[in-house]
Amino acid sequence: MFKNFKSVDRCVIGKGAYNQLGEILEKRRIASDDYIVFIVDKVFENGLTNIKQRIPSKPNDIVIYADVNDHEPTTEQVDEIRDSILANKNSLLPAGIVGIGGGSIMDIAKATALMVTNEGSSQLYQGLNLIKNSGIWHCGVPTIAGTGAEVSMTAVLTGPTKKLGLKCDWTIFDQVILDPEVVADVPTDQWFYTGMDSYIHCVESLTGTLNNEFSRAFGEKSLLLCQEVYLNDNLTKLEKDEKLMIASYMGGLSLTYSEVGVCHALSYGLSYVFGYRHGIANCIAFDVLEDYYGDYVTEFRKMVTKHNVTLPKNLAKSWSNEEIERMVDTTIALEHMWNHAVGKDWKQKVSRDSIRKLFERM
Ligand code: NAD
Ligand code: ZN
Repeated sequence: MFKNFKSVDRCVIGKGAYNQLGEILEKRRIASDDYIVFIVDKVFENGLTNIKQRIPSKPNDIVIYADVNDHEPTTEQVDEIRDSILANKNSLLPAGIVGIGGGSIMDIAKATALMVTNEGSSQLYQGLNLIKNSGIWHCGVPTIAGTGAEVSMTAVLTGPTKKLGLKCDWTIFDQVILDPEVVADVPTDQWFYTGMDSYIHCVESLTGTLNNEFSRAFGEKSLLLCQEVYLNDNLTKLEKDEKLMIASYMGGLSLTYSEVGVCHALSYGLSYVFGYRHGIANCIAFDVLEDYYGDYVTEFRKMVTKHNVTLPKNLAKSWSNEEIERMVDTTIALEHMWNHAVGKDWKQKVSRDSIRKLFERM
């Protein structure tokens, strides 16, 4: 069975592309009571960059500043946002939802667009094709590049029992705006961690067993762009940001016909048990994976040094046996990742003990 995958319908790309958002939204504003919901990262609420002043909202619209600073998006957070929107407008559906932020906000916007038309808590829909009704029109404006969340068919949420995406065709954005000026002010460490998500997506996509010419074509080009961004000294910051946005998008497309691998399996364990953010969790995990990803890990360490990033070390010293076991539980349950990374016979090659040893090296 071949994947019959859906893509983002429309995408505007380039320096200044964000200025087109207002015009794009005009097409959604048909009836007099039509309104748009903007879900914006809370970091922009107090004037960091000029995003707040540039939100093309009208008096009838709703602007929600969502806090993703202390934790990754949760099912509870999405439920609350959905409930507050519908309560505010007597259950009238928005004409569109716009997410402005990093991967966390991309996921909250995608999930909210689904949850306004699906009853109950979003935790009921964590998984593949569990959503019953199509969501509403939604648009993503990434303010950090790397996760590929702007193009993927999943909205990753942490729920009471698992970190898992709401995954279906309707999750995909109808519109995306990629403007390198919008990502210009990301602090260096975050720029590095999230960008490395893209690098690692490509490494995992390319080295696994489930890829094809399509995923390799996007993965190879995206990997080259990441290498340029993090190792080439002759690029301006704007050129780097533009390349990284395209790398992120193409890395995400590569995964459409491939999978992530061992690093993401470990990283999910770290995020679930200790709440580490996705980008940094990937970096902590990738640093111990030379047996799986060889020269790529050497190259990754070169990038870490070049950008003066200090990765957290000696973490395992303070982890209890029970915490490590819970991470192993989360990691080993991600069978599709192991299947892709190691092959169908992965259970003969990977044991709880070998995964445990990787965590103990972090
Ligand atoms: P993020 O959205 O979690 O943001 C990281 C931090 O940077 C936050 O504190 C945020 O407030 C801040 N920030 C965002 N934009 C900024 C800007 N322009 N300037 C300054 N600060 C800014 O970071 P991320 O790495 O882009 O996303 C990680 C999330 O994406 C995780 O929740 C992960 O689960 C999810 N993810 C989803 C997919 C998918 O396919 N849906 C893929 C990978 C990761
Ligand atoms: Zn990732």
